[in-house]
Amino acid sequence: MQPDNVLTLFQNVVTYDNVTEYIFANRVWCRNNETKKEYLTQYKRNYRVCFDMTTKLAECECSLFNHSGIICRHMIKLYDIHGEEVPDRYILRRWRKDVSRKHTCVKVAYHDPSKTEHVVSYDEM
Ligand SMILES: [Zn+2]
Repeated sequence: MQPDNVLTLFQNVVTYDNVTEYIFANRVWCRNNETKKEYLTQYKRNYRVCFDMTTKLAECECSLFNHSGIICRHMIKLYDIHGEEVPDRYILRRWRKDVSRKHTCVKVAYHDPSKTEHVVSYDEM
């Protein structure tokens, strides 16, 4: 569990029409190579997030979404501040649970849902 002050809104500046620029101060985690444990330091790093009020789209300079397809904590915090839901654009299909995938239709020899104990008991009647 993270302490509350790990990610804080440092300042927000309106730059141009309907685009607001936010700067989040994010405390830095370090990892001890010997114990392999991470700990929170007092150092801070600032991340700039631009939010377009008309399109409700955001862009963060950490580029986690561009790099790995996962929305970063800075953008999530921004949507939380505005009381908005994260747009579907930022939830890629490969991370969704409500999508039926082709490989789920492939029958596997060791798991046949039609042969559960309940179904087998009816088959034997
Ligand atoms: Zn970010």
